[in-house]
Amino acid sequence: MRLILLGPPGAGKGTQAQRLVENHGIPQLSTGDMLRAAVKAETEVGKRAKAVMDAGELVSDAIVNAIVAERIDQADCANGFILDGYPRTLQQADSVGEMLAERGIELDVVIELVVDDKALVGRILKRAEEAKAAGEPVRKDDNAEVFDERLREYYKKTAPLIGYYYAKGLLQGVDGMASMNEVTKQIAAVLERTAKKS
Ligand code: AMP
Repeated sequence: MRLILLGPPGAGKGTQAQRLVENHGIPQLSTGDMLRAAVKAETEVGKRAKAVMDAGELVSDAIVNAIVAERIDQADCANGFILDGYPRTLQQADSVGEMLAERGIELDVVIELVVDDKALVGRILKRAEEAKAAGEPVRKDDNAEVFDERLREYYKKTAPLIGYYYAKGLLQGVDGMASMNEVTKQIAAVLERTAKKS
């Protein structure tokens, strides 16, 4: 199964992706996690991405496309993967389509977590508080000011992907405002229907 989780920051993509990893045994490919690892390791990519990420803006398509292309060729992706936080622009969507076509594989489904904007900033602040309480590092972009910019970037650059994948017949929406377990159930139902079709 090859799927994309789509939704604004704080929609719950990361949490649901982790549950899919456990339940389906396919890896989560989070470009945000990969970029944060690059920043931490102070690689060339990390150095270029850091300021952009701290400001809540999007890293260049060329950088993220390259890291995803390299990642999907690794052995653990052979039976599928969950794209979390990628693609985030129409250019990235075209690029992932080409990447998969070159490898003779296809996307099975794009799952949109449909959420109410007003709830999102609260979720992000809660995530920051929980990380702090657990003694874990708090993401620099998990604060109200940067969050506004991340949401603007989402509407400007990522939301057009909803129409893009709808037109391809790949889009399935789930209610991202339901409880975490309910969202997990809805995603499982989508995947079951998708598996039956293919
Ligand atoms: P995330 O963990 O998905 O919220 O991503 C954190 C930050 O990493 C974003 O605000 C962007 O700066 C950067 N980022 C992650 N994924 C992408 C992507 N697909 N395209 C561009 N920038 C990205």
